[in-house]
Amino acid sequence: MGKRGILTVISGFSGAGKGTLMKAILEKYDYGLSISATTRAPREGEVNGREYYFLSKQEFEDMIANQALIEWAQYVDNYYGTPKKYVEEQLAAGKNVILEIEIQGALHVKELFPDALLIFVTPPSAMDLKNRLVGRGTEDMATIEKRLKRAYEESAYMDQYDYIAINDVLEDCVEDLNQVITQAATILEAGGKFAVEQDFTQLISKIQKELKEL
Ligand code: ADP
Ligand code: 5GP
Repeated sequence: MGKRGILTVISGFSGAGKGTLMKAILEKYDYGLSISATTRAPREGEVNGREYYFLSKQEFEDMIANQALIEWAQYVDNYYGTPKKYVEEQLAAGKNVILEIEIQGALHVKELFPDALLIFVTPPSAMDLKNRLVGRGTEDMATIEKRLKRAYEESAYMDQYDYIAINDVLEDCVEDLNQVITQAATILEAGGKFAVEQDFTQLISKIQKELKEL
C-alpha cells in the first residue's frame, strides 16, 4: 500500500485571509483542497462547486442524514460541512489534503483523524482583522460586528491548534504554511508525531486582548 496523504485543517477568524491563502498555496503547491457545502448565499464572484457547494437547508440536512459529511457546524446563521467522499479518496491516493473550516469542525476532525495537523491563521493584529473585513466589502457592518464578536469567542480555542500562522505578508505566510505541512507530513511518514517548539502563548494573549477591546 502506498503512503496516505496528511490531512491539514486550517481555521482562523473570518477575514484573516484564509480564502486568499488557500488560492495562493494551490497555485504554487500540489494540495487537494476540500470544497465544503454551505447554506449561505454565494458572495459576488463565488461559483458553485469552486468556493463551495451552495445548498438549500433541505439539501444540507439530507447530506447530514445520509452521513455524507465528515463534520458540519453552524456558523453565525448558516450550516457548513465537509463532504466525506473527496477527502477519503484523496488521502487514500496519497495526496495531502487541506480543509478550511471553523473551530468546532476542526476539533471534531482532530477526534476522527488524530494525525491531522491543525493550523490557525491570524492577522498580525485585531485592527488588521477589522480592516480586512471592512476592506473586503462583502458583509454589512452588522454582520462584520457579529464576525468580530465570534472572533473573540474563537480566540479562546487558539491554543488547541498545533501551529499558529501569522498572515502578514501573504507570500511569506504561504511559504510558512507549506513548510509546516511538509515537515509534519515527513514526521508522520516516519511514524513520529509533529510538535512545534514555538510557544504561542504571548501571541494568543495579545490577539485576545485586542479583540476584546474592539
Ligand atoms: P477569510 O477567508 O479568512 O474570511 P479572505 O481571504 O476573504 O479571508 O480575506 C479577507 C480580506 O483580506 C480580503 O479582502 C483579502 O484580499 C485581504 N487579505 C488577505 N490576506 C491579506 C494579507 N496578507 N495582507 C492584506 N490583506 C489581505
Ligand atoms: P465564510 O462564510 O466566510 O466563507 O465561512 C465562514 C466560516 O465557515 C469560516 O470560518 C470557514 O472556515 C468555515 N467553514 C467553511 N467550510 C466549512 C466546513 O465544511 N465545516 C466547518 N465546520 N466550517 C466551515
